[in-house]
Amino acid sequence: MFGTARTEIDEQWAWADYGNCQELPDLFYNSEDEAKSLRRRKESAAKKLCGRCPVIAQCRAHALAGRELYGVWGGMTEAERHRLAGRARTG
Ligand code: SF4
Repeated sequence: MFGTARTEIDEQWAWADYGNCQELPDLFYNSEDEAKSLRRRKESAAKKLCGRCPVIAQCRAHALAGRELYGVWGGMTEAERHRLAGRARTG
């Protein structure tokens, strides 16, 4: 029947259901016009939640493999992921 079978994409994202950020998505992303001081405070708070997250390893692996450009993923900020990948920060 429709809607009962888990797709391959569902399986790939199953870890995300257990993330500490499920209820706080705004904390993990920044808008372009956000002040740098606010961005730093949000990133710091998000990284603290990541540090206690049961799926941090899966999240970080996903973000690095998928080259996620924006937001905090797996305890890493945009800038940290870009530096690791040798890319310039976009925002
Ligand atoms: S590691 Fe951080 S961004 Fe990833 S699921 Fe957990 S809380 Fe969310």
